[in-house]
Amino acid sequence: MRSLALLARNRLALGGLIVMGLVVFLALLTPALPLKPPNITDTSNRFLPPFSQGAILGTDHLGRDLLSRLMWGTRLSLAVGFAAALIAATIGAAIGIVAGYYGGRTDNVIMRGVDMLMAFPYILLALAIVAALGPGLINALVAVAAVNIPFFARNIRGITVGIAHKEFVDAARLSGMSDARIILTEILPNVIPVIVIAMSTTVGWMILETAGLSFLGLGSQPPVADLGSMLGEARAALITNPHTSIVPGLMILVIVMAINLLGDGIRDALDPRLKSGALNRPLPATLVAPSRQPAAQHADAILTLDNLQTQFHVKDRVYRAVGGVSLSVKPGECLGIIGESGSGKSVTALSVMGLVASPPGIITGGSVHYQGEDLVGAPYRRLRTLRGREVAYIFQDPQATLHPLYRVGDQLIEAITAHRPLSRDEGRRKAIDLLDAVRIPNASARVNDYPHEMSGGMRQRVGIAMALANDPEVIIADEPTTALDVTVQAQILSLLDDLRRERGLAIVFITHDFGVVGQLCDRVAVMYAGRIVEQGPTRAILDAPRHPYTARLMACVPELGGGKRRLDAIPGLPPAVDDLPPGCAFAPRCDRATETCRTGEIPLDKVGDRALRCLHPVTMTEAVS
Ligand code: ADP
Ligand code: MG
Repeated sequence: MRSLALLARNRLALGGLIVMGLVVFLALLTPALPLKPPNITDTSNRFLPPFSQGAILGTDHLGRDLLSRLMWGTRLSLAVGFAAALIAATIGAAIGIVAGYYGGRTDNVIMRGVDMLMAFPYILLALAIVAALGPGLINALVAVAAVNIPFFARNIRGITVGIAHKEFVDAARLSGMSDARIILTEILPNVIPVIVIAMSTTVGWMILETAGLSFLGLGSQPPVADLGSMLGEARAALITNPHTSIVPGLMILVIVMAINLLGDGIRDALDPRLKSGALNRPLPATLVAPSRQPAAQHADAILTLDNLQTQFHVKDRVYRAVGGVSLSVKPGECLGIIGESGSGKSVTALSVMGLVASPPGIITGGSVHYQGEDLVGAPYRRLRTLRGREVAYIFQDPQATLHPLYRVGDQLIEAITAHRPLSRDEGRRKAIDLLDAVRIPNASARVNDYPHEMSGGMRQRVGIAMALANDPEVIIADEPTTALDVTVQAQILSLLDDLRRERGLAIVFITHDFGVVGQLCDRVAVMYAGRIVEQGPTRAILDAPRHPYTARLMACVPELGGGKRRLDAIPGLPPAVDDLPPGCAFAPRCDRATETCRTGEIPLDKVGDRALRCLHPVTMTEAVS
């Protein structure tokens, strides 16, 4: 249904759909229409012009009614074109799926056969097939279908190969399903959209090919009309009586154009990537609302966020992903940001350098000061010089951030040359230095590795090396160890810790793991539903969490050697950020909440060594016990 709505939004495709619907409707209705018989000749009325008495579109060289022949011919051409497309798609897809699913020798034999068919110019191949079978509409249909089979087979095989090794197919195999069932229930549903797309874009082409064969006299035989044979017969009178050619010619044009527009629309609507908006290229920097209120800057911090607000405007919904976050880091300091998934940590981090995809993202308020300069609303050129050079990012999945086809050394060099020119030798030396700096053993050999030749931990080290490439002042690490196992995680953490001590880096470290915060961060900010609910020195917060959310979050962490205890999961779910409750966003899940918690704004108050957004904080005595 979503696909239909999408299709309807595409004006051209909708136009194609309407025209095609009309043509198909008329073609289906033709036998019931009060038309003259299409094949009755009447030589006394040859070449009547259009709009003549009794023949609206005129007559042809044998005095046959053109309107009637056009309707019957369209009917036949459409039927043959669609039938050929259906046959080619079915056989081609079956071949492709079998080849792609079984792979190995089966694949080899089948695909080489397909390649041989593809090696012929395919109109020639169609002609050869008709020549062998003899002229006739059915033979033309067979020929057109046959020459299109390789196209479908190749397409579908490619898709199937990609799917056949996915985990869900392995899972089906492990559960004991037969190959036939796997193909029908796991593979086929995934390739059907591709088949439909390929069909919708080739039907028009097949109608043209059939018409072409008929035009040459190899398709429909006289007196039966199809669009191609009508054109062929009219050829001799092209100059003297052009209407006999124009009538079928226009019909072919209209049909093929309508089908192609519709096919494009179907492709756009069915392709999941296009559907999710992959074609809307995001702007190079996040949009900033003109109504934004910039905030004042701080003195000693290198990076300061003040009341930063980032929203996603999707259709008429507003997602308040970041709802007024204030943070700061000093050189050599590590600030942790912790919170459940969906609490707005990543969006906060990406907002700093204007990296939130826009549309739909938009920064609606607050400021980000880097060394006294407000980055929100800074020109794109300025942001680009700062990105990577002054503020660098490390992301969760280095597999996704490293290019699979380039050696890691080249990728490191590229990160540097984005900001300053570098000779090859110099670049290589620098890349090796960087790999050394992130403690990759045997760096001078490893620099030539491709990402897939490295382990997850190694790749993340490369990710860190890339962040370090331009000696940035600030590193923002977004869950850099979440995908790693604990021993590698410990190594990466100690590496980051060393680096900030050696280089005086300011680190913003995003995580959902209190253990990690405890190892690395000087201060920690706890986020919930896009806002900071508690912030303070790590030790103080770990020893005595004051916000009920922080306390509940920490109670979820199992302690090694802490004996058996029930882990208290937090009941309920985080609120949806497009529909935040008034008052404290945590109130619905909080057992300390009162009526006042659910109304009005609850400020982030300074309480002793920390900032706290709570009316009923956990008392010190409760917290320590
Ligand atoms: P996390 O704390 O897990 O990093 P994120 O910062 O990625 O969370 O996401 C914060 C909120 O923003 C989530 O509730 C998410 O649903 C919302 N969000 C993120 N990207 C988009 C988007 N493109 N459109 C709408 N909402 C989004
Ligand atoms: Mg995230």
